[in-house]
Amino acid sequence: MTNLTDITTKDIQVDSPITDRFGRVFNYLRIAVNEYCNLRCIYCMPEEGVPFQTRDRLLGRNEIFKIIKIMADLGVSKIRFTGGEPLIRKDLIDLIHFTSKKTNIDSIHLTTNGVLLPEYINRLVEIGLNGINISLDTLNKSKFKKITRREGLDKVLEGLHLAINSGIQSIKVNVVAMKDFNDDEISDFVELTKDNNITVRFIELMPFDSHQIWKTGKFFRSDQIVKYLKSHYEGLQSVTGSSTEHFIFDIKDYIGRVAVIPSYTRSLCGDCNRIRITADGKLLNCLYSQKETNIRDAIRTGMSDVEIKDLILFAMQKKLKDGWVAQNQGEDSRESMTQIGG
Ligand code: SAM
Ligand code: SF4
Repeated sequence: MTNLTDITTKDIQVDSPITDRFGRVFNYLRIAVNEYCNLRCIYCMPEEGVPFQTRDRLLGRNEIFKIIKIMADLGVSKIRFTGGEPLIRKDLIDLIHFTSKKTNIDSIHLTTNGVLLPEYINRLVEIGLNGINISLDTLNKSKFKKITRREGLDKVLEGLHLAINSGIQSIKVNVVAMKDFNDDEISDFVELTKDNNITVRFIELMPFDSHQIWKTGKFFRSDQIVKYLKSHYEGLQSVTGSSTEHFIFDIKDYIGRVAVIPSYTRSLCGDCNRIRITADGKLLNCLYSQKETNIRDAIRTGMSDVEIKDLILFAMQKKLKDGWVAQNQGEDSRESMTQIGG
């Protein structure tokens, strides 16, 4: 049996790409590498956490290597490590190192709450991380504690600062925009882009929380956020961003950029290129999908790589037209974004 760590990029051949019935091509893998987190964001999990699964149910290091290798064979060229909080996972460095050195995936990203970033940023960049998304919903210490139920704003800001000086190619700050919580901080966040080559992205709140903050009137629609930005920044110029950045702007004399992500209103499904794997190894062909394909068990029951590839191709062929149709296909709503990775 081939040892995955012995594979070099010259051994790699790309099989047929991953597509669906609507002509979409999937080349971007988002993999949650754990469920656990050192924060308790109120829109994401209750104070006591969610019923975290035991470690044996989550993907192990070699299983993640295998999935990444198979996805790369199927033409995946971009990966994002997410969670839970991915920086809590001790072998995250090995996972990123493997992806960078042993596959032809050439765009490697991490989504983190940033609390542990000061410890890891330099090593991450050294081993080949290309981009980092830091989730930060407020620049105010007491509000940070209110939203995350923990301390840590100083560490996140230190991590952001170190990332800016690290030479990493892409830095994005993800702000979940909420009425009566941080809508008064929109301009403060925009100002971070004045002298820094970063993108600040305002994201719609989504209904993935057992705490149901969703029902408290905090939802701030993307078109309203865009309206706010347009009325406050005269030199706002639309530019092209990634496929999920529906509204992305340059501001005259600002080095960075600002984007608005309609993650709830879902105007972007037609351009979706994402495959999601949960921390326990289930493939989701849509963030809102109620159906899963168990890749972990496929590996554990000894399926061959060819059979696993067929399973992935089949699961993605079944992808529904958009997130609204997907959400309406079942009763359950997931308890927390930690199980999906955002
Ligand atoms: N812990 C890491 C972090 O916070 O960046 C990675 C995992 S977290 C689940 C990924 C992203 O999902 C974060 O940017 C977070 O703000 C977002 N998220 C979690 N629950 C959400 C919700 N109900 N609505 C919108 N975004 C949410
Ligand atoms: Fe943790 Fe990220 Fe969820 Fe916040 S959003 S509780 S940081 S997983």
